[in-house]
Amino acid sequence: MNLADSEIVGSILTKAGYALIRNIDEADFILINTCAIRDNAEQRIRKRLRELRALQRQRTWVKIGILGCMAERLKTQLMEEEENVSFIVGPDAYRQLPDMLHHVNDGERMAETLLSDTETYADIEPIRYDTNGITAYISIMRGCQNYCAYCVVPYTRGRERSRNPETIVNEARSLFEKGFREVTLLGQNVNSYRWHDPAGDVGFPQLMAMVAQVNPLLRVRFATSHPKDLSDELLQVMADYDNICKCIHLPVQSGSERILKLMNRRYTPEWYLDRINAIRRYLPTCSITTDVIAGFCTETEEDHQATLDMFRRVRYDYAYMFKFSMRPNTYAEKHLQDDIPDDVKTRRLEEIIALQGEIALENNQKEVGKTFEVLVEGVSHRSDQQLFGRNSQNKVIVFDRGDIQPGQYVNVRVTRCTAATLIGELAN
Ligand code: SAH
Ligand code: SF4
Repeated sequence: MNLADSEIVGSILTKAGYALIRNIDEADFILINTCAIRDNAEQRIRKRLRELRALQRQRTWVKIGILGCMAERLKTQLMEEEENVSFIVGPDAYRQLPDMLHHVNDGERMAETLLSDTETYADIEPIRYDTNGITAYISIMRGCQNYCAYCVVPYTRGRERSRNPETIVNEARSLFEKGFREVTLLGQNVNSYRWHDPAGDVGFPQLMAMVAQVNPLLRVRFATSHPKDLSDELLQVMADYDNICKCIHLPVQSGSERILKLMNRRYTPEWYLDRINAIRRYLPTCSITTDVIAGFCTETEEDHQATLDMFRRVRYDYAYMFKFSMRPNTYAEKHLQDDIPDDVKTRRLEEIIALQGEIALENNQKEVGKTFEVLVEGVSHRSDQQLFGRNSQNKVIVFDRGDIQPGQYVNVRVTRCTAATLIGELAN
């Protein structure tokens, strides 16, 4: 999400005559895009700001700006706390950046943090920097109003709004023409994507079909889908198109019915497992990944065991696993207590990580001997004699390079694996 936003900011500022540079020692303005989802994300930014003081002592004219969710959450308070910050820009105010830089350059300190009900940056073609030239993100909606009890996003990114589908399809087409071969459609809850049109509304399944039709050689992925809204209609569209990747990220957060209720997730473990069964039915080869939080307010050992149980039943291919972090202004902060001691949170998280490690390895072992179509993304980090890419299930596959180029589709037969990677050889 943040990368997609940085690409929009890059585009706005480039059009205004600014240039992106590689070397921070040559910068006149430093813009830091931030996340506020957990406290440690914010602590990392504070540390970075302290480190940047040395650079500012050398280059006294350099101005630093904070963008994104941490800017939105703290507003001018952040400028009071961090003396070397000159400007603060919330996620819906990026269009004002060129004007702001002008004033900031004259010595003013400024904050623009108004949230919008309509801003989608639909007309802005993001600048793809730091790109492999093959995979790209397309933001299809902004904001969220699900108000999960632990989550700061509804407060930092405002109300949910969808972007005009035509501009999304055009962006996908333009990327394909530039050589890109995979797009990931992004939103906090893509299942509730909806564009109102007199000729007929466009929902997420229709949008997926429209993007898949851009070209059969363009792979389409999406993130994130909320379990409460994962429809059979979407699964059917995924089954209908070979180029829609068979991978669903379906954050579970907890396996306990009581905790899910307290989290305001609006589904039960039964409902969640029913959706998992539906995925298996429509898309037998689909991989499933998740997010989970250990140690939410009042979580008992029994609740924690229910989470481990959920992991054993679903057998996720990958999971993002977090310790609960109390965030200011959320429902949890106002009405619940952060009552699970840190060492208990850590132990529970470690138990989930260990279990998930075993499951991922066993899942990968089942792939040995199979042949997958792989979109080659680049040279492997380990050896320049090897390339890496992903299969439709989003699993990384490493193989000997031959005379294959990044951007090509190749068939790779898996010969061995680790919990994180499949290793294979070119088939055909
Ligand atoms: N919109 C997505 C997730 C966005 S945030 C969804 O609803 O699934 C990404 C992940 O961060 C969440 O899925 C959750 O697991 C985690 N997260 C969010 N707030 C958190 C908090 N306060 N403490 C720990 N993890 C949190
Ligand atoms: Fe946060 Fe819930 Fe919205 Fe995801 S759906 S962004 S977890 S409030």
